[in-house]
Amino acid sequence: MSDANISLEKGDFLMKADVVIRNCIIVTMNMTADIIKQGVIAIKDGLITYVGRSSEAPILEADIYIDGSRKIAMPGLINCHTHAAMSLFRGVAEDKEITSWLRETIWPLESKLRPEDVYYGSLLSCVEMIKSGTTCFSDMYFHEDMVAKAIEETGMRCVLSPGIIDSIGGLFGEVLLTGALKIARKYGGGTNNRIYVMLGPHAVYSCSPKLLRRIGEKASELNIGIHIHLAESEGESASIRETYGRSEVELLSELGLLRPNLLAAHCIHLSDTDIMLMAKHDVKAVYNPVSNMKLSSGIPRIKDLLDAGVTVGLGTDGPASNNILDMFDTMKIAALLQKARYGDPRVLPARKVVEMATRDGARALGLSGLIGSIEVGKRADIILIDINKPHLTPLHDIYAALVYSARGSDVSTVIIDGKIVMDERRILSVDENEVVERAEKTAYDLLSRKDPIRDLVWKA
Ligand SMILES: [Zn+2]
Repeated sequence: MSDANISLEKGDFLMKADVVIRNCIIVTMNMTADIIKQGVIAIKDGLITYVGRSSEAPILEADIYIDGSRKIAMPGLINCHTHAAMSLFRGVAEDKEITSWLRETIWPLESKLRPEDVYYGSLLSCVEMIKSGTTCFSDMYFHEDMVAKAIEETGMRCVLSPGIIDSIGGLFGEVLLTGALKIARKYGGGTNNRIYVMLGPHAVYSCSPKLLRRIGEKASELNIGIHIHLAESEGESASIRETYGRSEVELLSELGLLRPNLLAAHCIHLSDTDIMLMAKHDVKAVYNPVSNMKLSSGIPRIKDLLDAGVTVGLGTDGPASNNILDMFDTMKIAALLQKARYGDPRVLPARKVVEMATRDGARALGLSGLIGSIEVGKRADIILIDINKPHLTPLHDIYAALVYSARGSDVSTVIIDGKIVMDERRILSVDENEVVERAEKTAYDLLSRKDPIRDLVWKA
């Protein structure tokens, strides 16, 4: 700050901004969980440059002013585990047990996937996520370069995890790992500040120990995280124990994969020792309550994980096992399921659930320095929620309103990296109707496709 500026009175200080949001209630999700009534937020070059009360703010000169009256401004929601392109499979395999769901329906359909299918399916999911207030998601799938294309076009933020599955002999796993490394080198170098990369071994039961060890070594070399399904299926967890004489977590520990940037989705069938090991190595967990209930995978012990000190983010899982990507829906069910699991309504209070969907999610993805709260210096990923609704009146408890009453459709405006991506529910970055029509056509075409396995092997 120059001497000239210091000499000005606080109210006279002029600050230039690209976007200013005025008169809103700010749920900051900062360390002290400050809530600011009659607040103002300034954004410049994608960064949050001012957060505070309107009465104490400097004079803000902006290109765009947003009226936040009767609106809550909060950090954009973070979906820590999904498979965006699986929107194409929404509703194709309902009410099935997880192993037959995967082996009889999902995997055969995925064997027919072409890169362009992944692109159109991901675009559809991005639009759905933006419309329900998600600004960042962590994706695991094939053809992640196509997901990246959808992210670039829609303006979202994402952690890509190119999926890796092994085969007998290990050749297929190696081919997929090579492709994943190519994606990691392309997008992981910080050239695009909205796209990050992890390696995505599908699960302990679908990758050999040898391949998992190689993935661990490569992730260390590139200094990137690993995203895996962990202890999701009781049957697969039992078969790992039978084959290797140890749990999935113990096996990962032995292979050197338990580390702070291991993102483990589901974490249902865990022993106390497993939880202790995860906490010791600062492994991050993702709780996917809707998918866990729908596939009857079990109910993870989230309270025990949190009590042990494990960071837990929230995820929807793919649209084929949810069937929507609305994180407000996930927040509500996340809270309710844990209360039922422990027989205690005090478990997972609303404020903690909002933390899990914002700042804890950012920590789980290794992005806590960038996103997860509305604080000066963070990237501007902000959503506005219209509270001028019967189901959000009166507003006695903001966190309870967000978790138990709000819906994705209450989100009016979405800002990602300082850019307005949705204004009064109108998507600005892409043509929503075109995205929906194209995805629908692609989904029907994929289901009726007769051609044999094509394009599943990564374009090395
Ligand atoms: Zn999953």
